[in-house]
Amino acid sequence: MATRLYTHPIFLEHLTPPGHPERPDRLRAIERVLDDEAFSALERVKAPEGDEATILYAHPENFVERVRAAIPESGIVSIDADTSASPKSWQAVVTAIGAANAAVDDVFEGRAANVFVAARPPGHHAEKTTAMGFCLFNTAAIAARYAQKKHHAERVAIVDWDVHHGNGTQDIFWDDPSVLYCSTHQMPLYPGTGAKSETGAGNIVNAPLAPQTGSDLFRDAFLSRVLPSIDAFQPDLIIISAGFDAHHRDPLAEINLTEDDFDWATGQLMERAARHSGNRLVSLLEGGYDLQGLAFSVAAHVGRLMKG
Ligand SMILES: [Zn+2]
Repeated sequence: MATRLYTHPIFLEHLTPPGHPERPDRLRAIERVLDDEAFSALERVKAPEGDEATILYAHPENFVERVRAAIPESGIVSIDADTSASPKSWQAVVTAIGAANAAVDDVFEGRAANVFVAARPPGHHAEKTTAMGFCLFNTAAIAARYAQKKHHAERVAIVDWDVHHGNGTQDIFWDDPSVLYCSTHQMPLYPGTGAKSETGAGNIVNAPLAPQTGSDLFRDAFLSRVLPSIDAFQPDLIIISAGFDAHHRDPLAEINLTEDDFDWATGQLMERAARHSGNRLVSLLEGGYDLQGLAFSVAAHVGRLMKG
């Protein structure tokens, strides 16, 4: 079975103001690097239309309607200081959710070895009732609940190596021990959450990293906190909130990882997916704002996924 890649042209049409780091060029950079012959075995699939009803797995209806009502007919509107929406943002975010849910179907129904979803907007900062941090809805959280409802997964682990803490995912699963949320992130940094002491129902595992941390401490955090938590939890599915803004070239943070670290971390999670989850592994793009750092990191990540 092959590694699948979900993309869709609509993801380029979620527009942000000029100079905003979360921009369509991020996906163009990923597309270019994955055009290389080394990725010819990657199975490219156009993301299906999403099912809006699945948004309610992670967000209440009045919040969903508030976001829908905020989508402008033209131009770009601010949802908060750094989160915006343009006319096609609704279709983009619903398609991102459709892609993530389809990826879950693929790994449960044996259509793919594993899946990478290259979509935007990202999702991990979106709390139950707050769109923030470039995120409208929490794609990873919706996909985890989708796996539980549609495929009867009892336990889903979400591993978030984006350099920012996934406050939204933590908020949604704070009192839900059927989902393990593990995050490595820089602290202090936006959004300010993610201390070790934030443990939810014992299902939240935060591994904050000081600014200027590099490969060694990142890998230590993975080996000492993230991986043992997964082993204890024995998930039926692993979802990666795959942000690549901990790369040393990234302009938004000061963690100094290289693409080799993302290759390594991917391999570690694939090993855990083999051990506990019948190899079921779905990776969703979150952040990553230096186009070269992002492209090289995604190439390392997807290259490792393809090695099965
Ligand atoms: Zn980030």
